Formats: sequence, C-alpha cells, structure tokens
Amino acid sequence: MSDIDYLLLEAQQNIHELIAEQKPLEQILEAIADWASHMMPGSLVSIMRFNPQTDTLSLMPGRRFSDRFVESMQNFPIGDGQGTCGTAAFTRQWVITENIQKDSRWDGLHDLAEAESLRACWSMPILTSKGELLGTFATYYRAPANPTAEAQRSLARSTALVALAILRNRDAENLLSLAEWYQALLTNHPDGVYTFDLEGHFQSCNRALEDITGFSADQMLGRHFDFLIEPDDRAQTQAAFNRARSGEAIAHEMMGTHATGRLYYLQTVAFPVMIRGEVVGVYGICRDITRQKDQEAQIIYQRNHDLLTGLLNQAAFQEVLCHSLTADGGAGTLATMHLNLDGFRAINEGPGHPTGDEVLKVVASRLKNLAGPDVTLARLGSDEFRLLVPGFTDRDEVIQLAERLLAGLAEPIEVDDHKVQISASIGIACNGTQLNAPYQLQQFADLALDRAKRQGRNTWQWYSGPKVERSRHSVALRQDLHTALEEDQFEIHYQPLVDAVTGRMRSVEALVRWHHPSRGMVSPGEFIPLAEQTGQIVPLGLWILRQACTDIVDFNAQRERGLRVAVNISSLQFIRDSFLDDVRQVLKETGLPPQLLEFEVTESVLLDGAEAVIELMQTLKTMGIRVALDDFGTGFSSLSYLRDLPTHKVKLDRSFVQEVATDHRMAAIVQGVITMAHHMDMMVVAEGIETRAQQEDLAHRHCDILQGYLFARPMPLAELKKLPELLPVDHPE
Ligand code: C2E
Ligand code: MG
Ligand code: MG
Repeated sequence: MSDIDYLLLEAQQNIHELIAEQKPLEQILEAIADWASHMMPGSLVSIMRFNPQTDTLSLMPGRRFSDRFVESMQNFPIGDGQGTCGTAAFTRQWVITENIQKDSRWDGLHDLAEAESLRACWSMPILTSKGELLGTFATYYRAPANPTAEAQRSLARSTALVALAILRNRDAENLLSLAEWYQALLTNHPDGVYTFDLEGHFQSCNRALEDITGFSADQMLGRHFDFLIEPDDRAQTQAAFNRARSGEAIAHEMMGTHATGRLYYLQTVAFPVMIRGEVVGVYGICRDITRQKDQEAQIIYQRNHDLLTGLLNQAAFQEVLCHSLTADGGAGTLATMHLNLDGFRAINEGPGHPTGDEVLKVVASRLKNLAGPDVTLARLGSDEFRLLVPGFTDRDEVIQLAERLLAGLAEPIEVDDHKVQISASIGIACNGTQLNAPYQLQQFADLALDRAKRQGRNTWQWYSGPKVERSRHSVALRQDLHTALEEDQFEIHYQPLVDAVTGRMRSVEALVRWHHPSRGMVSPGEFIPLAEQTGQIVPLGLWILRQACTDIVDFNAQRERGLRVAVNISSLQFIRDSFLDDVRQVLKETGLPPQLLEFEVTESVLLDGAEAVIELMQTLKTMGIRVALDDFGTGFSSLSYLRDLPTHKVKLDRSFVQEVATDHRMAAIVQGVITMAHHMDMMVVAEGIETRAQQEDLAHRHCDILQGYLFARPMPLAELKKLPELLPVDHPE
C-alpha cells in the first residue's frame, strides 16, 4: 500500500468516525468532499441534496464554488436535460458531461458554467439501498474530460459514503425527535407520569407529578415511592407495585401525603416496562382524584343526611334501624325515641323561617351533644327528630337520656334578637315486645309520642304495650294531685296589684295554694308544671277559675266598686276548645261581671300558633274579659310580636325588677318596654316589688301598676277582706 493509499484509507476511517460520532452533517460531507478531491486530483466536488417535496436539488455550500454559483444551484429542478446533476437525479443513472459547452443539457446555463470556469462534469445520483434519491455527487473539471475506471470507482465510493452519512444523520435526527417527542409528552402530560426501577425508586417523573405531590423532581428522583404514601396505604401500594413488576397492569388508589402535609387521593395505573421480554422497571400514570372523591362523598352524604342540621335523614335512619334490629337479634336492647318540638310552628309563623331554621340547628347540636356518639340521631323534616339508642341494659339509662334531652332543650335558645324558649315531647319504644316488622317499633314510638303530647307536652312517654308508663318520680305527686282535687286541698290566695302613683288597690291576682296532707304547702311552681304535664291542669284550672270568681263576687258584695280578679291560665288550658264554654259557664254560675275578670297568660300560649290565640283573645275582649301577658321578657316573643296581640297589659317578670336597680342595661330594657307598651296603649305591671328602691325606680319610669311583697303578700280571702283600700306608696315628685 502506497503512502497516498494509506493516507486515503486513514481519511476514510476518519470519515466513518465522524459519522459514528454523529458530527454535524456539513462537517462530514466536507470531509468526504476533501477525501474525494484527493482521490481525484483536479476535481471540484459538488454535493447536492434532494428535496422530495419540491423535486429539486440544492448545492451544499462550500469553498469550491462562488456564492453566485451556489445561489443559482439552489432548488434546481430535476429532469431529463436539466444539466448533468438534474439529469442524473432524474434518471437515477450516472451522467457524464465531457464538455459542458457542448452539452445541450446545459442550455441556458452555459454562461454560468463559463463564469465559474467549469468545463466537465460527472454526476452520480445518491441513492439508498431501496432506491430512494438523496441527492447527487458530482465532480467538475476545469477542462473537458472523461472519467477513468479508477475515477469512476472513486466517485462511486464517495457517493456511497455520502449516502451513509446522510442516512445516519437522518436516523439520528429521527431518533432524537422521537426522544424529544416522548420527553415533551411526558413533561407536558396533564397526569403525573413516572418510572420506577425494579426496587421502586423514581427514575423519572414529570411536572404534573411535581404538582400533585408538591415535591420537586430533584426531591423525588432516586427515592423510593414510600415517602409519598400515607403510612396506612404503604403495604397495599407495595403489593400493587410488586404485581406491576411481575408483569401485570395494575390500577390502584391510595392516599398520598403532599409536601405541605395535607392528604390527597391518588389514582394510578402502573405497567411493567418490558425490554426484549424482560421487565426492567415500572411505568405509571397517576392523577389526584381528591375532588372527585370529595364530590362522591358529598353525594353520598347528601343522600343520607338532612342538609339543614347535618343529621341523618329518614332513609338513612331506617337503614340503621333495620341493621340494628338484625344485629340485636331480638335481645331487646334497642330503643327508639321520636322527638317533636312543642309549638315549633309558632316560631316559623312568628319570628319566621330563618329563626326556625336556626332553632332546629341548635336543637340538633344539643341533641347530638346530649345523646353522645353511640346514639343514632336523625331529623325527618320539620321539627321531627329520631334517636336510636343501642345496647342499653337498663331502662333507666334510656329514661335518663330522655330527661337529659328535655332539660337540655329547655335552655333558652338565642337567635338574633330572639330568645326562644322551646320544649319537646318524646315517645319511646323498645324492641322488648315482639315485633312483626321494623316499622312497628316506629309506630309504637309514635303512639307514645302522641300520649306525651296529650299529657301536656315537655315530657316523655314509654310505650309498653297498650299501657304507657309515666315518669316515675312524678307518679306519686301526680296521684296526690288527683286526690287533692277531690279532697279540697287547694285554696286560693289573693295578692293586690296597686296603682304606682296613688297606691290604690286596682285588682288582685288569684294564686293557687296546695295544702298537701303530708308535705305541707306545695309551691305552685312545683305542681303547676306537673299538672300541665299530666293534663290535670285542665280540671284544676277550671276549679281555680270557678273558685276565684266565687270569692271575688263574695268580696265585692261588701264594696261599692267591684274589684277585678286576675286568674292565671296555663297555655294548655287556654288553647283547649272547651275553654270559652267553660268561662261562659263559670261567669253564668257565679254571676261575676266579665269586666271584673282578667286572665294572665304567658307568651308560651303563642307557641302553638299565634292566629288561633289572637282570635281567642279577641273574642274574650268582646266579651269584656281582659287578657294580660304574664312573665313578659322570659319567653321568646319579640317586642314587635306584642303589636298583634289584643292585650292591654304586660306584666314584667320579676327577674327584671330584681335587677333594674343594679344593672343599667336591664334598666334600659325595662324603660324600653314601658315606653313601647305605652305607645301601644298598654299598661305595664311590675311584679315582685320587694323594696322601696324598686318601687321608686319603677314609679320613676312610669310603670303603671306594682305588685309585690312590699305592698302585700298573697293572702287568703278572709285577710284580703280586712285590707285597707290604700296601700303605702311613696309619691315620687
Ligand atoms: P306568676 O303568675 O308570675 O305569679 C307571681 C308569683 O310571684 C307568685 O308566686 C307570687 O306569690 C310571687 N310574688 C309576688 N310578689 C312577690 C315578691 O315581692 N317577691 C317574690 N319573691 N315573689 C313574689 P306563686 O304564687 O308561687 O306562683 C308561681 C307561679 O305559679 C305563678 O307565677 C304562676 O305562673 C303559677 N301559678 C300560680 N297560681 C296559679 C294558678 O292558679 N293557675 C295557674 N295556671 N298558674 C298559677
Ligand atoms: Mg301571674
Ligand atoms: Mg309573673
């Protein structure tokens, strides 16, 4: 091998290396051009690339030709007769132009060739093995010439090398773009995309995964996936990973811990990465499905809950009940309570629905707190609540709960400006008796609830067959109440109400007293609520009314001007259908002029619907009987409510009077009530005046009438008869 040959071989080797190293194509082609020039001394190498879109050739720029020539040889159309290269490209054959000036294929280009001093041109198409045209490889000479066999071989070799370089370059480009394409796909994929090695360490991850996890790629790469997973879900996630690693495609959900510490739901699909039949890693796509989960949970929640209070709804309660009954298996340790609020309608009609809604919410939360976590609590709508008490061993537990609920609900509820006083009735049934169906238990509870309501509300009743048990601790007193009426143990005391200015007795209030044979005096504060609860207030109230009227007729017989008597009437008594008839009957029997009769009712009469009560008060008014509002300020009525009531008098509760001298806010309220009542042509009575200071204070505030121990205690009729007409009153100047 000659030195030249050796050098050429080395140059060829060098070109192969350039190709292998994927050096820029221009650099490689330049090297090939140099190499060919060496093999074919005196030649000017031209490499033209083919553009299949335009069917043209373009000369690669190089130092061998002038700019003008290079420019003219851009987008040069191929075709039979289009110069040497155009023809070679078109015919896919190699073309020899011995003398350019004489070759008609160069027509129109002769001047260009002359200017470039090009006289001969031999051109070979650059073809792939499949015959795809890549361009032409040509050598020009400054003098007309024909190629030797050796030159032809050199040309062919160079052309093959160029084809190789172009193809390799194209492959590399394709390879690169595919990788780039995948990279872009991975990076911009809206879901989290990642790969793990066989041990579960992150090998790659995309931007979405960074967003989902809150960790940067740097923080994740190389680490085991465990640190992203909630500890409770790690074992399951590892199991899913193992299955993917063993060749399965796995869909899996887990809880993730975000970099900020918050938990989120992650849904992932993991696949094995297989290369040549072998698993080399695990590839996965995941997304944060927390919102979706939340929505699902919300839908389930809405299906099962009462949206106002957050308690279970009827359907859910029913389901729990059926399950519990099955679980109990007839052991009889399950109790249901049906709870209705007393007079809830009046709150909706009075203060309005928004207030009603607030009350229901407060009631729900109180019931929840009082009942504890084991009790299932539901609201069926309106003011109907249900409780399911599981696993009780002693009936007393349930009874105590019922009483706790009643006591808890009795606490006033403050809503906006309203102070709402509410009570409830509860019907209880347990599965101790044989049940034919779950609904029977609820029927029994409903029956018990009815009885509780009929008993005067604010109480509970336990259904046990047709016989209904009563609250045990009041059983004795209740029995006593019954005999007390028959045995005349009641007496009425009278307490004067005096004119705040003149001190003249204006009327008396009838206050019942019970001389209990063994207990002595029982306070009406104790037995009136009990009588209300048991319904005995109705006969007792009638007796009081009759007795008071009789007494006052007797009292007035000795006086010139008749004194008026005020009789306290319980709500239950007041709203009974027979009340008006009873009143007419008593007036007729006793002969008391209706103008001398007054009723004191508390705001609680309004609880069962204001309309009927207003109508009744109107009727009483036309009959000449007045109705005063007792204990004003302790109930739920707002001041504005008063406007609609046909009442002529409000009695400020004793609690106001007690505080008026010491609490300036209370004084302001009292002043407000007095002023407002006067604007509505109502009189104001202050109850419970015990001190001179209270008397003076209220007189100053233009309170009309005063009542209290300061003037006189409640006393039997006989004592009242002895009382002077004028009671000691300081005249405020
Ligand atoms: P009430 O209608 O607000 O009656 C006023 C209560 O305050 C009476 O208590 C009376 O004795 C008491 N009192 C009057 N002046 C003073 C005072 O200066 N200081 C204090 N500490 N107390 C004073 P009583 O008689 O114990 O009655 C309590 C409640 O029982 C009555 O409140 C009323 O709601 C009810 N009640 C009493 N008698 C009857 C009745 O015949 N029928 C009905 N349905 N309820 C009655
Ligand atoms: Mg009263
Ligand atoms: Mg009162």
